[in-house]
Amino acid sequence: MTDTRTLRLILGDQLNADHSWFRQTDDRVTYVIMEVRQETDYVVHHVQKILAFFAAMRAFAEGLRQKGHQVIYLPLDDPQNRQDFEKNLKHLIRKHRFTRFEYQRPDEYRLDQQFKAIAAALPFEARDFDTEHFLTERDEVRKMFAGKKRYLMESFYRRMRTRHEILLEKGKPVGGKWNYDTSNRRRYDGKVPIPALKKFRNDVGAILKMLSATKVRHFGRTTGRTLLWPVSRRQALTQLKYFLEHGLPHFGTYQDAMTTADWGLFHCRLSFALNVKLLTPMEVIQAAVQRWERKPETITIAQVEGFVRQILGWREYMRGIYWALMPGFQDMNFFGHKAKLPDYYWSGETRMHCMARAIGQSLDYAYAHHIQRLMVTGNFALLAGVDPDQVDAWYLGVYVDAIQWVEMPNTRGMSQFAEGGLIATKPYVSSANYIHKMSDYCQDCHYDHKTRHGVRACPFNSLYWHFLNRHHQLLGNNPRMGTMYRVLERMDKNERKKILAQGDAYLKVIEEL
Ligand SMILES: Cc1cc2nc3c(=O)[nH]c(=O)nc-3n(C[C@H](O)[C@H](O)[C@H](O)COP(=O)(O)OP(=O)(O)OC[C@H]3O[C@@H](n4cnc5c(N)ncnc54)[C@H](O)[C@@H]3O)c2cc1C
Ligand code: SF4
Repeated sequence: MTDTRTLRLILGDQLNADHSWFRQTDDRVTYVIMEVRQETDYVVHHVQKILAFFAAMRAFAEGLRQKGHQVIYLPLDDPQNRQDFEKNLKHLIRKHRFTRFEYQRPDEYRLDQQFKAIAAALPFEARDFDTEHFLTERDEVRKMFAGKKRYLMESFYRRMRTRHEILLEKGKPVGGKWNYDTSNRRRYDGKVPIPALKKFRNDVGAILKMLSATKVRHFGRTTGRTLLWPVSRRQALTQLKYFLEHGLPHFGTYQDAMTTADWGLFHCRLSFALNVKLLTPMEVIQAAVQRWERKPETITIAQVEGFVRQILGWREYMRGIYWALMPGFQDMNFFGHKAKLPDYYWSGETRMHCMARAIGQSLDYAYAHHIQRLMVTGNFALLAGVDPDQVDAWYLGVYVDAIQWVEMPNTRGMSQFAEGGLIATKPYVSSANYIHKMSDYCQDCHYDHKTRHGVRACPFNSLYWHFLNRHHQLLGNNPRMGTMYRVLERMDKNERKKILAQGDAYLKVIEEL
């Protein structure tokens, strides 16, 4: 037998302890995990995002060591750290005389390209492996919708339900419907108490000190020296259990609601744990289905279906969209938007209460739930005509769960419509009407949600009509926009003029809103 010495790389979002790599220990195999400036600096991140990644990576390395694996861990401030994957790998290969290199395929296009190049340039064998996490192949969505104008999530989701036999009875959806979305759109009415936030108290003092000493740029706020996000598999399982007991019974009902009473409502807050692969999507889905089977008196089919759809449907679908559209995706800009992202995205200081809330909690916790991301901050950026590059950079930096494969299809695709309608049949834009319907934000706002022009008119109102008016050529023929264009056309001329003038005026002073 030849004396091979293998170096296996584990990226920060590949913390899957059940991966077949770890089934047995082997003294000819060494794992390497690195904290590198290449990753802390390619976009400015929220401080809690960096803390969560590094804390999870450190805990994972420790777990591997305890199981008897050989691990090289390169902290960011290690003098030996070259701060770049390629340079570090070359150095380690030389120093420890490795004769083989193995890695798990990255989920991000940028890294995928980089590792292909690194592997091709090595003088010995290199091999890539699956991460053993997702339920679909990268190219599944592209193949499924080849030649189609729209990539319908609903068709993909039904296929996934059938393939994995989830919530099915004799091949038919349990309860008779594939989708309970219409019964899942309630405003938070206070009838059910929101469960207390499950907070972990991970001590991240040492990492914070290191970030300050190495002058890593970041934004957002910390919660003292501790981090509330789950950073180990054990914590992720605890969070999952907590969600199943307290969140799932009302997940669907309030999944679109926004309230000043709480920043997380009934959401599971597992996206970081899922995205770094501390949990697998299938175990989360199965745990939810089993809970519903055991507790049908407290969890209805609408709640569990709503939750399953997010993971079995949206999450896998978005990943497929990413791989179907990359690399061109990152340059798509259907509307040709060029405006600057207003400064209050970085400070939360705006008189628009909905924006101040959604941004403020993002800065406080590196988290906002789906509707806040889509219908508040994303909606406003689209109405204001912000350059999707800047919108992407903000979303990629601010959220603890933001990794490009899931951030970009949600942001540039679903929220900014930059790919021109492959994902959504129409842009997700709305006036104050929607925000008022789904939240309690408007009641304490400087602006008036009912007014479209004049002092204190809600900016979402005039900007909504302004958006439709200026993009008439691109959207006028879209059948799903027909009703709104007819409303605009039939509007009293004077009223329309005032609204559009208000929109113009707001766009000129966008930083002062
Ligand atoms: C503009 C925008 C940007 C987003 N950026 C990200 C991102 O960078 N990373 C990320 O993980 N999610 C992103 N999402 C999707 C969604 O907002 C988050 O997954 C969710 O808010 C995470 O919170 P949670 O774990 O409490 O999720 P829940 O609301 O409890 O949902 C359960 C799980 O379903 C999955 N899920 C739900 N919706 C989506 C979706 N649209 N795409 C993919 N997975 C989904 C997540 O894994 C989530 O943990 C984005 C959405 C929008 C509109
Ligand atoms: S009035 Fe307008 S700006 Fe204020 S909270 Fe409502 S939607 Fe947001």
